[in-house]
Amino acid sequence: MPSVLMYFDGACLPRNPGGHAAWGVWIEGLEPDGVGLCGYVGHGNGITNNVAEYTALISGLEYLLRQEVRSCEVRGDSELAIKQMNGEYRVKAPNIIPLWTTATALGRQLARVSFRWVPRKQNSQADLWSRFGLYYSVEDRARDVLANYDIWFEAGAYHMRGLGKDRVWTVSPQKDGRFRCDCPAFQRSSIDVCKHAAAAWLLVGEGKKTEKKRCVV
Ligand SMILES: [Zn+2]
Repeated sequence: MPSVLMYFDGACLPRNPGGHAAWGVWIEGLEPDGVGLCGYVGHGNGITNNVAEYTALISGLEYLLRQEVRSCEVRGDSELAIKQMNGEYRVKAPNIIPLWTTATALGRQLARVSFRWVPRKQNSQADLWSRFGLYYSVEDRARDVLANYDIWFEAGAYHMRGLGKDRVWTVSPQKDGRFRCDCPAFQRSSIDVCKHAAAAWLLVGEGKKTEKKRCVV
């Protein structure tokens, strides 16, 4: 078995299609603590879970090639994507054909690559990273929070106050690495995202308060 394992996953929430799509990748065997990658795909016309799955696959393969990895086993819980990558299913959806073509071309640049389906529970790290990818749906506003809010960490949570404002929002880390916020936008969100939660994730996501290496493309 190759020493590098790459897990990939896509999310399209709260509906597929018609939701917000994000992707996540988890790589073992490259860095001691593993490498997580994620990003936001978008929402609206043409955005599906399968588009998110292929975006994960392509982004992960591009990362491996940049790291000059020669050999890898790629694992995902999308039977469709795995069987398409193995040539067992034909690719018929017009929006998937270019993605499949790109993923296949990238795979061929590796000296050795295999694609293997795994059950969802074995893909939980890539799934979690795809949830982190949803934070990038509000990236601009989250970076504005980081630049312009007073932020302090106290009693196990981040507290955020807009400059000149009285109201303080409290952003609490969850066990899985995501964040909950007590602001109205988070309470209304169907994907557990607000600019404060995303700002907190960007703080830890860039390695400030975390043990796992978290790089983002
Ligand atoms: Zn919030």
